[in-house]
Amino acid sequence: MILLTPGPSPIHPRVQQALGKPMRGHMDPETLATNRRIREVLKVLFDPGEGALVAAMPGSASLGMEAGLNNLADQDEAVLLLVNGTFGERMVEIAQAYRHDYTVLRCEPGQPLDPELVKKALSQRKYKLVTLVHGETSTGVLNPAQEIADLATEHGALFMLDAVTTGTMMPLSMQQIGVDYAFTGSQKCLSAPPGLAPFALSKRGREHLGKARGWYSDLSRVAVYWEQEGYFCTSPVSLHFALEEALNMALEEGLENRQKRAETMYAAVLGALEDIGFRAYAAEGARLPTVLVVRPPEGLNEADIRKGLYSKGVSVAGGIGPTAGQVLRLGLMGESARVEHYQVFFRALGEVLGKSGLEKAFLERAGLIPA
Ligand SMILES: *Cc1c(COP(=O)(O)O)cnc(C)c1O
Repeated sequence: MILLTPGPSPIHPRVQQALGKPMRGHMDPETLATNRRIREVLKVLFDPGEGALVAAMPGSASLGMEAGLNNLADQDEAVLLLVNGTFGERMVEIAQAYRHDYTVLRCEPGQPLDPELVKKALSQRKYKLVTLVHGETSTGVLNPAQEIADLATEHGALFMLDAVTTGTMMPLSMQQIGVDYAFTGSQKCLSAPPGLAPFALSKRGREHLGKARGWYSDLSRVAVYWEQEGYFCTSPVSLHFALEEALNMALEEGLENRQKRAETMYAAVLGALEDIGFRAYAAEGARLPTVLVVRPPEGLNEADIRKGLYSKGVSVAGGIGPTAGQVLRLGLMGESARVEHYQVFFRALGEVLGKSGLEKAFLERAGLIPA
């Protein structure tokens, strides 16, 4: 089965091999040395500046999201949640669960967050924290992180960025943009197995840590393990080994090259799909290169296409939240953004739709055979 969903993404043989290393204890010197190397690479990929807390929480990316909201704002501190899709709504669910004092600013799904509206909201009330999903996986929209970070800074608020579909696949310097807390999931752009949530918390963010509620998502406990090398919990050591290899691969390739790879594949896949009547869901100019969300041509049902592809060994996702039942969602994160995988996708799609020449059209667009 080829995983072309927006996570999990296909695992490279090097990472698969690291996953199979003999088991070690979570306090074993080898494991602790692995953790130190993981932190060093994360510092390069997230660039959070001096004095940051950099680690990987044992849990999926949603734990990274929950930990950010839980640690960065106390119950009586106002939080501004910017929402234009399912993962923005997840922030609202978490803020509700923690009984935060929150305000939600919603923009149209398929459209980027409007900085003018954010500016207005920030001028009406003092917020401790502003949260944004950088790449909204439910719609395929890339939100304007820099503009919103500038506004948060201007108004003295901390800025938390869900970098799940962007981090480690494009240059994302937290210091330069002005991000205090960013997180991702190991199974997205890193193409490692699910189960770890790498994150970085800036020095300024650390200075503003609130009184975290609960226990497992308390970042001061996470720091005990990752910085002081003391016991916090039994971290999934095999996943640490796999993550280290995936991080090394990202570093070797370089973030500019990874972004270019995703963008090139995005253009080739979308172009070949547009030729046969598919349409991108996200507004032009605000398209996330790592998740392509497309509406099928008139008269075709997304579920039928999806099931047909699955029967031919290609796994893609349907819509969720605002896009449920309307779209196909295709992953271009990490190892999924490869010509050989999408070649198989187009071959299978051609069979499902009873159309010939799709694979060739895709390869031409990818620049692999002359048009
Ligand atoms: C996948 C995803 C999440 C949640 O990740 P899990 O690993 O499923 O918990 C959060 N935000 C975005 C943007 C995502 O794509």
